[in-house]
Amino acid sequence: MRFDIITVLPGLLESPFAHSILQRAQKKGIAEIIVHNLRDYATGKQKSVDDYPYGGGSGMVMTIQPFAACIDHLKSERDYDDIIFMSPDGETLNQSIANQLSIKGNIIILCGHYKGIDQRIRDIYVTRELSIGDYVLSGGELPAAVLVDAVVRLIPGVLSDETSALSDSFQNDLLDAPVYTRPADWNGHKVPDILLSGNTPAVEKWRFEQAQERTKQRRPDLLE
Ligand code: SAH
Repeated sequence: MRFDIITVLPGLLESPFAHSILQRAQKKGIAEIIVHNLRDYATGKQKSVDDYPYGGGSGMVMTIQPFAACIDHLKSERDYDDIIFMSPDGETLNQSIANQLSIKGNIIILCGHYKGIDQRIRDIYVTRELSIGDYVLSGGELPAAVLVDAVVRLIPGVLSDETSALSDSFQNDLLDAPVYTRPADWNGHKVPDILLSGNTPAVEKWRFEQAQERTKQRRPDLLE
C-alpha cells in the first residue's frame, strides 16, 4: 500500500513514520509512505502556497495551484483509490474506516494549514474528507500521521502475532480487556488468578466478559 502525503511542513512528518511498527512496515515493503513538499510545486518567485481570503476576514487560505500541480503529477504516474483531505468538518475517523482503507492500493492525503484550503481543491480532487475528532489542530500533518498509523497496522503482515489487531478495542465493537504482566504480585496488588491458571478457554472467556463489562461501563453506545 502506498501513501503520498502532501504538506507544506514535511519536517513534521519525519519522526512519526521512522519508528516502531510504521518503520517496520516500510522496511518489509508492505507500506510505502512518501511525503511531498507542497512548496516544490508552487510556481512564482515567492513559491507562495497561500493567499488572503476572498470576502475578507482573518487567516490565510491555501491556494489551488500547488496542490493541483502535485496531485496531477502523482496521478500521471499511477491510479489512486482515494484522495483524502484531513479536515475537522470531515467524517470522523474510526476503526471501520481504517479497516476499509487498509485494503486499498494507493492513497493521496492532503494536509491543510491556516484557515484551510480553497474549496475548489476539495470540489475538484478530493474523494473523501476525514476528521480525527471534534477539535481543531493547526495543520493536517498530525491527523495524517494518525490516519496512516491506524491503517498501516491493519495491513496483513505488519503486526506480528503477539500484537495482533484482532482483539484491539473497536475491532469487534468491544473495548479491549485489561492486560497484565510480571510481577504477579506488586506490593499486594495481584494479577487476577484466572490469568495464571494456564486454562486458555477460561482465560478467553474471562477476557471476553471483561471486554463486555468495560464496554458496557465506558462505551454503551458500541453495544447498541
Ligand atoms: N478553518 C478550519 C480549520 C483549519 S485548521 C475549520 O474551522 O474547519 C487547519 C488545517 O488543519 C485543516 O485544513 C486540516 O487539514 C487540519 N485539521 C485541523 N483539525 C483537524 C481535525 N480535527 N481533523 C483533521 N484535520 C484537521
